Formats: sequence, C-alpha cells, structure tokens
Amino acid sequence: MKSANMKKWDAYFAQHDYLRQTAGWQLAFEHFLEEIISPVDFPAQAEWQALTKEGVPLLQNEELQQKVAKAAAENLYRAVDAVFDNTSLKLPDAMEKSFAAIRLWAAGAEPEACRQFFTLLLRQDDRGLSDLATAHHLGETSLRLLGWGILSALVPAVAKDVSAWEELGWKRNYCPVCGRQPVLAVLRKEQEGRARFLVCDGCHTVWPYARVGCAYCGNEDLKKMQVLEPEGEEAMRLDVCDVCHSYLKTYQGKDEHGEEEIYRHDWATLHLDILGSERNLVKKGSILLASAEGEEK
Ligand SMILES: [Zn+2]
Ligand SMILES: [Zn+2]
Repeated sequence: MKSANMKKWDAYFAQHDYLRQTAGWQLAFEHFLEEIISPVDFPAQAEWQALTKEGVPLLQNEELQQKVAKAAAENLYRAVDAVFDNTSLKLPDAMEKSFAAIRLWAAGAEPEACRQFFTLLLRQDDRGLSDLATAHHLGETSLRLLGWGILSALVPAVAKDVSAWEELGWKRNYCPVCGRQPVLAVLRKEQEGRARFLVCDGCHTVWPYARVGCAYCGNEDLKKMQVLEPEGEEAMRLDVCDVCHSYLKTYQGKDEHGEEEIYRHDWATLHLDILGSERNLVKKGSILLASAEGEEK
C-alpha cells in the first residue's frame, strides 16, 4: 500500500518525468536511511534556548556534535552495506563504484577515522573532507551524499520542525540545528501577508527568516534583488541577489495538496538550477557542494 506521501510523489513525477530517475532515487535513498537509522536523543527542548544562544547551532555544541558523529560512525558501514543489499534501491551507475569504495573503507577504518569524517562534515571543513577523500581514494560527492543522509536520519523530527524555532525566535540565515546555509526557501500565507522560511539541505530543518532580502549576504536593498519566474513551474521562483550573485529557489505555491513538502527537497527542482547556472548565478547550501567561501561559523 502506498502512503499518501508517496502518492503525492507519484503525481509530481507524472508531471516532471525527467526527474523521475534522479529525484526518485534520492527520495528512496533518504526514506531508506530513515528506516534503518534511529535518531539520537537530543537534549531536552527546554535546553535549546541556552544551547543556541549567541547563534551557536545545536550540532556545533561540542558535546552533541561528538555524540552525533559517534552515532553516525557506528551506522556508516551498516548503512552503506544495507544500501547495496536493497535491490529496490539500485544505485545509479555513476555512484555504484564510489559507494563500493566507501563501503570498503568503512569496513576497515578505525571508529575514530569514521567519527572524524562526520566531524568534518558537521564542521563544514571542506579542506579536511577533500583531504580525507583524496587520501583514501573516495568520491567526495558520494561521501557528502551518504554522510549527510546518515546525519539527517540521526536528527529527531522535533528539531527539524519549524515550530520549535519559531518559538525560540531563531531568525538567522543558517540552520539552527547543523549550521548550514539554506538551500531553498518557502513562502507561506499568514494572517498578514506571507512569511518566509528557510530549508536546510543537510539535516532538513525548517526555520523562520526575514520576509525580504538576500538570505545569503544579507542585502536588503530590494533594487538589487530580482525574481525569476520559471516557465511551467508556477509554484517555484528564483530570488536573485545582484550583490552576491546567488539565487534562492523559493516555493510560493498554495500547498493545497501538501505538495510543499515535495518542493522542500532540493533535488525535486534540479531543472531550476539549470536556469540559475545559465545566468552564471551561484548555487549555495547544497550538501553536494563545498561551501566555497568558508562562511561557516
Ligand atoms: Zn541543518
Ligand atoms: Zn546576496
């Protein structure tokens, strides 16, 4: 039996057939990791305010970061091995080799080395990650994809939910849970106009942010912001910043049938990123990309 959620995806793929292969695989991959990995126990929600004061994301607190990195390391081999075992999750050819190399590395690596890998991801240490990939002949993109998939599955749903962060008044331009830059935004109708929320590509947390302006560089001069409305995709637009030349994919649909959840996945609208790159704009926040300017805290 298919869940209501899967039916939504089926309808989406019917309209976006060219995405069925890549986005369909990503969807199955994320679901599968969530099935086989249990979230870690986070500190009580009452403590989050104190933990995130001065803008420190939850997972940048040393103790919690180590706890999550340890749990991720313990799951690494099991997760990548289970991916190979799952026949309905046939790896795309390009990925099969690099996942096999990761499996081999994870099978023989010291627990400390695996933990270090996840610490590098959580700290967004691009140089360190690149060095690790080179030293062990591993594909960086696959490391990021698998690594963040595991990390995301370890974050409890309550921490990803926007209501927690609305309550705490987190309005920064980076994820309150892991500290990544947003990969896309969502506009929702509220009593007075619309409110904007940002979405993390790493741990999939959603949090509130200022309604206008660039979520990457903080530019608030609206004369230096443009909106690109792609043809045939009314639910999405690209907010372009002339100051830092980045764009932010933004869901502006009505969410009548709960499709916002689909659009909150970066890979569901990869076709819109082509539009951005054709205009020489910079994509930010994707787990597959190095954070470029090292803007992490
Ligand atoms: Zn995050
Ligand atoms: Zn900007």
